[in-house]
Amino acid sequence: MKFPPKNLAPPDAAARRASRPVICYPINDLPVLDPSFYERARCELALISKTTVPPRDAATFEVAAGCFFRIVCAEGPQVGDLNLWNADDMDERFFSGKTRALHGTHVSTGDRLWSNLPYMRPMATITHDTLDWYGWDDDGGSVHDVIGTRCDPYTNVLLNGCEYHHCCHSNLTRAVSKEKRISLAEAEKHVHDVLNVFMCTGFTLDTHQYFMKASPVRPGDYLEFFAETDLFGALSACPGGDCSASHSSENAQCFPLTIEVYKADPAYTGDWQPPARSTYSGGDCGAGSRWRLRSD
Ligand SMILES: [Zn+2]
Repeated sequence: MKFPPKNLAPPDAAARRASRPVICYPINDLPVLDPSFYERARCELALISKTTVPPRDAATFEVAAGCFFRIVCAEGPQVGDLNLWNADDMDERFFSGKTRALHGTHVSTGDRLWSNLPYMRPMATITHDTLDWYGWDDDGGSVHDVIGTRCDPYTNVLLNGCEYHHCCHSNLTRAVSKEKRISLAEAEKHVHDVLNVFMCTGFTLDTHQYFMKASPVRPGDYLEFFAETDLFGALSACPGGDCSASHSSENAQCFPLTIEVYKADPAYTGDWQPPARSTYSGGDCGAGSRWRLRSD
């Protein structure tokens, strides 16, 4: 809770507050997205794999570039926490913060999931969202946010003084450790801020605090992505269930989630090429980098 202000507003406070907001990152200048390409490509999809994420647990999956994948609500209202990496290099991973800066607090069809620096390219494009009807509710909430991080045992012990070992952070860590055959400590370093799939969230209108409310997701709903690069993913079925009341405990009713991977007809995707990493010349600070201090 913030302390009450100790400083009087200056005489020109109203004028300062009235300055015009400017969009930080106008997305009109992003590389062009051709909606008709994705619509054509998703016309003929063949299911090639299906992975079940058990409640209060996580599972990993792989998707080849040019394929589609769906996160499906299988049996009841359930929120999922998604991490994505480049399948060949886990240093490249989903960048929740820059995705938020570019596309806003919540994502839906047409938005892209960007990777971290110095790679900075679309890892996946959202191609269908059965919850796109929800829009914004009267509380300022919406679905599929990139404003939360993931429930984690560290914050839980800080706030509640108790230990819980099936937070999304823990579930993702265990799943990555198991699949990559690395220690939990090594796996934990790879876990990052998530896309909160199906979660309904926002900032309160008075204090601007992060809130959650019951997810509107129902069995059969799904969020669909086109894999722009070869992807390794991990999805946790959050212990908060539909996140209507609590998380980081055994209190909520939880359900499984399903990850379905689909191959598109090459007739529609044959000429498509994965996006290149950022063209910034100083990108990796390596020997050839032109990224130097002014005094160099
Ligand atoms: Zn969670």
